[in-house]
Amino acid sequence: MQQQRKVLLVFLPSESGVDGARSIYAEHEPNPFFSWFNSSLRSIIKQSQFAIPPLSLMILSSIEVEGIEQSICDMRFEPFPFSRNWDLVGISVQTGMARKAFELAERLRSSGFRVALGGPHVTLFPDDCRPYADVLVQGEAEDLWKEVLEDLKAGSLRQHYRSVSFPDLSLHRPVSKKSLVANRYFTTNIIQTGRGCPHNCDFCNVHVMNGHTLRKRAVEDVADEVARFRKDDRRIFFFVDDSINADPEYAHELFSRLIPLGIRWFGQATTTLGQQHELLETFARSGCCALLVGIESIEPKSRIAHRKNQNRVSELAGAVKNIRSAGISLYGSFIYGLDGDTLDTPAAILDFIGETKLDVPGINILRPIPGTRVFDRLREEGRLLFDPLDITAYRYTFGQEMLYRPKNIPLDEFIGSYSELTGKIFSVKNSIARGFAAPGAKAAVLLFNLFYTHLYGLSRKDLQQQLGSIPPEKSILP
Ligand code: SF4
Repeated sequence: MQQQRKVLLVFLPSESGVDGARSIYAEHEPNPFFSWFNSSLRSIIKQSQFAIPPLSLMILSSIEVEGIEQSICDMRFEPFPFSRNWDLVGISVQTGMARKAFELAERLRSSGFRVALGGPHVTLFPDDCRPYADVLVQGEAEDLWKEVLEDLKAGSLRQHYRSVSFPDLSLHRPVSKKSLVANRYFTTNIIQTGRGCPHNCDFCNVHVMNGHTLRKRAVEDVADEVARFRKDDRRIFFFVDDSINADPEYAHELFSRLIPLGIRWFGQATTTLGQQHELLETFARSGCCALLVGIESIEPKSRIAHRKNQNRVSELAGAVKNIRSAGISLYGSFIYGLDGDTLDTPAAILDFIGETKLDVPGINILRPIPGTRVFDRLREEGRLLFDPLDITAYRYTFGQEMLYRPKNIPLDEFIGSYSELTGKIFSVKNSIARGFAAPGAKAAVLLFNLFYTHLYGLSRKDLQQQLGSIPPEKSILP
C-alpha cells in the first residue's frame, strides 16, 4: 500500500503593530484599567484578526490528490506541531510578515522539514524568498499546488513552480471547510466569487497580483457553496472580493439566487453601487447588512494623482446616501495624505461624513506597499521614510504610522492635522451616535466605532512618538 503523505499549510499570526496601534503592545501602561483593556484588545486582535479564516489556505487544502492528506495550522490559535512528521510544510507569506515567515522556514528546514513558500510576497519578490524555501510557488496557486502535491507524491518536487497565466476560476473548484476548527472563528462562511480588478489605483496591489481582467467563478458553483456552507454554519457570510459589484450582471444573477437562502452577509464594493439601483435592491433583499467601500479621497487632484477614477467626486455623496437608504451600513475607507491633499482636506472629509452619515469612517494614512506604483514613485522622489529594502517596514498596519513624506504638507503639520481629524471623528459621543443611526448591523457598527475610538487614540500617541524620532528632513534615498 502506498504511504500517505502529510502536508501542513501554515497561517502566521501578526506581529505587534500589524493589526493595532503600537501602543497597545507597550510594555508599561501606568493606568491599570488601560493596561487590562489593552491586554484584552491584544488578545482579541491577535486571535481573531476580525475572525476571518485564511481563505487561501482553505482553497489549497480543498485540492484533492489521492495519497495526500492536507491540514491547516492557524498559528493564531496553536503552536506549530513539530512533533509530527510532515512531508511538506506550506507557508503563506505576506510582505509585512516576510521576516517572520522566513524565520519559521529556517527553523523548520533545520529540523528536517521541507518548506514551500507561496503567497503575495513570493509572487512579487521571488528572489527575496528563494533562500528560505525548498519549493517556491509563485502566482495564484490553485493549479500550481495540485502540481506540487502530485510531484510530492511522485518524489519529484521541483524548486520553483511559476504560473504562466492566471487560473481559470470558472472551472469547478469547490472550497471545503474540513481543515478548519470552526469554533475558533467568528464565522467560517468566507466566499470569493472572483479575482482581478480592471482599475488601476496606484496604491493597490490587487491588479498587480491578480491582473486587470475580472475572472469570475460560475454562479452555480458559488450559489452551491453558499448553500453548502450554510448547512453547518448559520453565522454571517463574508464575500471577500475586492469589489463585489464589479460585474453588475454577474452579481445580480448570483445574489438573486441567494435571496431564498435567507443569509446575512458583509462584503466590499465600490461606491458605484449607489448608482446601480436594481443591484442595490438585490443586495439588500439577499441579506447584505454592511459593505466596505473604498472612498479613498474626495479631493479631485488626489484621485487623479493616484488613478482612483471609478467614480466622480460629485457622485460620491449621493452614492453613499443611496446605499444607506437601502438599509446597508457602510464602512467608508479614506486615505488622508495623498498627493493632491492639503491642510484643507480634513475639513472636507468631516463635511462629507457629516453630510452622508457614513457609519464607520476609516481614516487611513497612505501605505506604500512594495510592488505598487506608488511605492516606486515615492522611492524615486526620495519620500520614503524607511529603507525600501527593509521588507518589514512597508507592511499593512492598522496602527497608523508614517512611511513616507506627504507631498504638500510638512510631516509635523500633517500628523497634527491627521490627529485632530481622527480625534473629532472618533469622539465617544460621535461613535455612539453613528452606531445608533446605522441602517444595518447596528451592533457591529457601534462596536467598530467604539473599538476605533480607542485604537485611533493610541495611534495618535504612536504618531507623536514617531515624529520625535524622525529628523526634520530625513529621508532614505533610492
Ligand atoms: S483599490 Fe479597489 S478599485 Fe482600486 S485597483 Fe485596488 S481593488 Fe481595484
